[in-house]
Amino acid sequence: MSDSAADKGVGDGTRAVRAGLPEPVKHEPTLPGPVFAAHFHLPGEVTGPYAYGRDENPTWTHLERAIGELEAPGQAGVETLVFASGMAAISSVLFSQLRAGDAVVLPDDGYQVLPLVRAQLEAYGIEVRTAPTAGDAQLDLLDGAKLLWIETPSNPGLDVCDVRRLAEAAHARGALVAVDNTLATPLGQRPLELGADFSVASGTKQLTGHGDVLLGYVAGTDATAMAAVRRWRKIVGAIPGPMEAWLAHRSIATLQLRVDRQNATARTLAEALRGRAEVTGLRYPGLPDDPSHKIASQQMRRYGCVVSFTLPTRTRAERFLDALRLVDDATSFGGVRSTAERRGRWGGDAVPEGFVRFSVGAEDPEDLVADVLRALDESAR
Ligand SMILES: *Cc1c(COP(=O)(O)O)cnc(C)c1O
Repeated sequence: MSDSAADKGVGDGTRAVRAGLPEPVKHEPTLPGPVFAAHFHLPGEVTGPYAYGRDENPTWTHLERAIGELEAPGQAGVETLVFASGMAAISSVLFSQLRAGDAVVLPDDGYQVLPLVRAQLEAYGIEVRTAPTAGDAQLDLLDGAKLLWIETPSNPGLDVCDVRRLAEAAHARGALVAVDNTLATPLGQRPLELGADFSVASGTKQLTGHGDVLLGYVAGTDATAMAAVRRWRKIVGAIPGPMEAWLAHRSIATLQLRVDRQNATARTLAEALRGRAEVTGLRYPGLPDDPSHKIASQQMRRYGCVVSFTLPTRTRAERFLDALRLVDDATSFGGVRSTAERRGRWGGDAVPEGFVRFSVGAEDPEDLVADVLRALDESAR
């Protein structure tokens, strides 16, 4: 059954509930529990996969199969590796692929830790070039680059670039291509099908969706490049605990339910916000008139659970967040409980003071929209 669920032929919900499950064994559980082991019995020669817990763990193996089946259903030759966090996964690609003297192209409007990564890459003698996500601006920086890093939709601005077009241009110049697929999830976008060499993501967000696990992964098609990523994981030891890996796998069973519910409500919320005079800069790639929609509709299957918008002032945004009852003022996104934050409080993103990143959860849509509209009214007083 797990083999057939990996086929392209089944729907996303079917694939999600069966993803990565081992063949049924009489008296064994459907999803085997977490294997807590620093080392495994290893008499004599070093053979087989499980020897030491920093290198391999059976709980990771099941999870890696699950993520691989969702990122690249039916695609042969895809390898998936799980990490302690999204940043561990991102760093493993960048630092395993790049050497002093190489050039890398990064987005200048991506995840807020990328500027720190940039400084570290530069300290190692790697040339870093940056351009915005919108309008495929990274296209102009590819000559002589070794790696192109794409984040689409971008966090928090929700701009989208054309993965297929950028990947073709990068490959024509001999550069590898990595896509940060965190916001879309593998049910929203399949970067490897669009031509990327790596799909990298934080599993901390909507993939696991309960705000209680930190996780990351890299799925890739290039065996040599993936061997280097695996080696990097071993060197830095940025590995997930067995409990986290198991919780993530358990959560993936409901991925399609959560994503469909949260993303539909995100669109409903975006439509409700469109009618509000105090809301500017409203962004949701699923809105037909959003600047991202045209490209998004060509390469995405679902548009995410994040809505971004700007309120007139910092104080107004703070009062709005304070007035919300069903939405926690917290960072991160993708969880079943709605969260929102004034992104400017971190100081890392180039956003207006009143910019709000809103992550839509699994609440009843009418309750959530009513709470938001009430909080907007209250924050005006
Ligand atoms: C959160 C996030 C990361 C980092 O993931 P962690 O699990 O927090 O390390 C990377 N990229 C994007 C787009 C993110 O939203």
